[in-house]
Amino acid sequence: MRWRGVIEEFRAFLPVTEQTPVVTLCEGNTPLIQASRLAKRICPHASLYLKVEGANPTGSFKDRGMSLAVSKALEKRARAVLCASTGNTSASAAAYGGRAELPVYVLIPVGNVALGKLAQAMAHGATVIQIEDNFDQALAIGKTVCAEEGFELVNSINPFRLEGQQTAAMEVCDQLGCAPSYHYLPVGNAGNISAYWKGYTAYHAAGQIAHRPKMIGVQAEGAAPIVRGHVVEQPKTIATAIRIGNPASWKLALQAVGESSGDMKMVTDEDILVAYHLLAAEEGVFCEPASAASVAGLTMCSQAGLVPEGATVVCTLTGHGLKDPDTAVSTSPKARTVKATRDDVLAALRA
Ligand SMILES: *Cc1c(COP(=O)(O)O)cnc(C)c1O
Repeated sequence: MRWRGVIEEFRAFLPVTEQTPVVTLCEGNTPLIQASRLAKRICPHASLYLKVEGANPTGSFKDRGMSLAVSKALEKRARAVLCASTGNTSASAAAYGGRAELPVYVLIPVGNVALGKLAQAMAHGATVIQIEDNFDQALAIGKTVCAEEGFELVNSINPFRLEGQQTAAMEVCDQLGCAPSYHYLPVGNAGNISAYWKGYTAYHAAGQIAHRPKMIGVQAEGAAPIVRGHVVEQPKTIATAIRIGNPASWKLALQAVGESSGDMKMVTDEDILVAYHLLAAEEGVFCEPASAASVAGLTMCSQAGLVPEGATVVCTLTGHGLKDPDTAVSTSPKARTVKATRDDVLAALRA
């Protein structure tokens, strides 16, 4: 049967009624790919799976939550939707809001949004406003503006975002036939790790799974407020999607980690890029830099002996590599240009 998107497929677990209009692009049902070659290299005694959220309609997991958030905005007759964004939330809001015939406003930190994401927001017809500050400031302003204008804020502090995003955890269980032992996720505003925990918990309560996984959140060293235990005023990392210094769902994330006996780790940008290139070159899975933080975190934990033999590990790859073409090109070997002759091409191949 045709996949109908997360609201219809997981309706029993979501706060919707017959009156809720369903705005969907048939998000969800993303691949769970076994990564044996990568496992051999980074965690040889465990089974490793990648939840490829870049396969969602706008190329990131944000679509799961946006389907619900925009549907609920329509239901309550909001005049418009607005978000602050490191990029993917705006791409998703622009697509779903446009589909729902709602005006969409996005506030982004100037100069720190990957090109593909900016292109999406613009192509889908959102009004894009660049803020001369970072994401945290953009979100603070967004909250004020929404309260004053009667717009629906569709950032992850909107509870419907997490409700929708929890469906990814349920899918993992359906695809594996059980819950994994460990689940690794990149952490920025910390909504997604909280949503997964909510999803696993709901599935557990419904008797769909026998245990819940340990949740391991991974932050970038230059943007690791939760690991460090304090707000980071000027977060810095190549992984722009997790370049956040004051996560909105900080407490919920700590709860997920605490209740699951998991952990919150940080990795360097170098480690992120190593994982990013390994995933693309060895597993054929091109994700964006922030997504690779999950695999970089697993690599670090495995080296520290924290992945027991026989464990089943899932890493969520949150967004598609095409979102950030600049990083792909600038961190890969340069393409060479040669004369258009057989000899020159052969010489280049053999060089
Ligand atoms: C939004 C996003 C994240 C961070 O998710 P949070 O819920 O903010 O922790 C990570 N990776 C990508 C690609 C994202 O778009």
